[in-house]
Amino acid sequence: MARYTGPVCRLCRREGTKLFLKGTRCLTEKCAVERRAYAPGQHGQSTGRRRKASEYAKQLREKQKVKRIYGLSERQFRNLFERAIKEPGVTGEALLVALESRLDNLVYRMGFATSRKQARQLVRHRHILVNGRTVDIPSYRVLVGDEVRVADASRELVQVKVALEQFGRGQPVSWIQVDTDKVLGKVTERPAQEQLIVELYSK
Ligand code: SF4
Repeated sequence: MARYTGPVCRLCRREGTKLFLKGTRCLTEKCAVERRAYAPGQHGQSTGRRRKASEYAKQLREKQKVKRIYGLSERQFRNLFERAIKEPGVTGEALLVALESRLDNLVYRMGFATSRKQARQLVRHRHILVNGRTVDIPSYRVLVGDEVRVADASRELVQVKVALEQFGRGQPVSWIQVDTDKVLGKVTERPAQEQLIVELYSK
């Protein structure tokens, strides 16, 4: 299935929770989940009797949430899942590590973009370097010890400046070190499962 290109707030309303799909803008804008706390569409406000959700329906919704947070298509999610199954240890943890290790996610986590969507664009437009080499593949897997930075010529981009300004008010996740002056970040360790779960639903 193709990537969803409609209004992102609709996806949060569909899941009934804030997914922070606009990244740091969600912290400053009026949130649609708070303003209209019901599902989108003509039956969204229906007060009719609802059936109790089955286990399958609950699992499906959780999968949809994760897919939406990271902006993945069904096929991309399935590929990651199939790779995670083959890894030793807990599959869920391996899946979350793989999601967190994507280059677009790290560009966002490091504060070089205000959302994962914007981070994906920066990567595709060749503004990002990994270990000194340009990488334009958003799904590129960044490893512990790798250095991610914004290309010198791209540091003056308005979106990068705005992101860094906003990032200055926040904190990077614990397994990343960021030098905002040099606009570079480093993955210092593999995140632990508890950290991943907490950070999954935070911005
Ligand atoms: Fe929109 Fe962000 Fe609120 Fe989601 S969390 S509804 S993307 S403002």
